[in-house]
Amino acid sequence: MGKPKGGVVEIARRGLMLVISSPSGAGKSSIARTLLSQPDMQISVSVSVTTRERRHSEVEGVHYRFVSQREFEALRASDSLLEWAEVHGNFYGTPRDPVEIAMAEGRDMLFDIDWQGAQQLQEKMPADVVSIFILPPTMAELQSRLHRRAEDTEEVIQTRLANSRSEIEHWREYDYVIVNDDLNTAIDSVKSIIKAERLRRDRRHGLFDFVNGLITEA
Ligand code: GDP
Ligand code: ADP
Ligand code: 5GP
Repeated sequence: MGKPKGGVVEIARRGLMLVISSPSGAGKSSIARTLLSQPDMQISVSVSVTTRERRHSEVEGVHYRFVSQREFEALRASDSLLEWAEVHGNFYGTPRDPVEIAMAEGRDMLFDIDWQGAQQLQEKMPADVVSIFILPPTMAELQSRLHRRAEDTEEVIQTRLANSRSEIEHWREYDYVIVNDDLNTAIDSVKSIIKAERLRRDRRHGLFDFVNGLITEA
């Protein structure tokens, strides 16, 4: 087992499902975008389907797959969604196939989903889910971020703000909680969590052979 001195010893492990939730505007998309752009992080994102209207900055198939209510219902009826929820008056769901393929290949995936989705994944794959809740430093800052983002109408912003307190109440259901005050500090915290979780003994089935190889080495 293992590679010669100076190489990197790769030990097989299961893929992890990194679930990130927050009230709208707390910064989960900003954090996720940075992680995905760093090749050394080796993590891909689950692209949700949604019935929400596309924002100007969003690209079909990259940020979401934008579908009609009817298409969403068909996906749900055919059991193509691993989880789904109604959030701020729209439907959102996680397509099942890409997740199952990634997990089978031992690849890590990031999920930007709400607390209802986090609960469903936690119930279905308790051993694979690592969950992080992102909090804003203050509610005033949350409000100004939603305005600064300038992607939603005032009505939509008000709905999201009104929902934020009840979303925040779910913070206890997450493994980790990060206050996104300085963005780079928050990103570093998420990276530390990923690095540590990848080293967990119970995720690395390859350790059994590796350790056996070590103790029987001539
Ligand atoms: P954001 O809160 O500003 O990022 O706004 P979005 O419109 O992108 O997301 C709306 C809500 O839907 C957020 O709480 C997301 O976490 C949630 N969401 C997005 N995709 C999914 C999904 O596939 N499943 C579930 N359950 N929730 C999702
Ligand atoms: P979410 O995906 O949680 O709704 P976004 O990532 O879209 O939130 O962030 C909302 C807005 O706040 C964006 O305009 C983003 O640039 C900004 N933002 C995110 N994190 C920070 C931060 N730490 N400091 C200042 N602005 C931030
Ligand atoms: P937005 O409309 O701002 O993109 O997302 C609003 C909320 O929906 C966010 O909290 C986001 O995390 C959540 N969300 C996005 N996709 C999904 C999904 O597939 N499932 C669930 N449960 N929530 C989602």
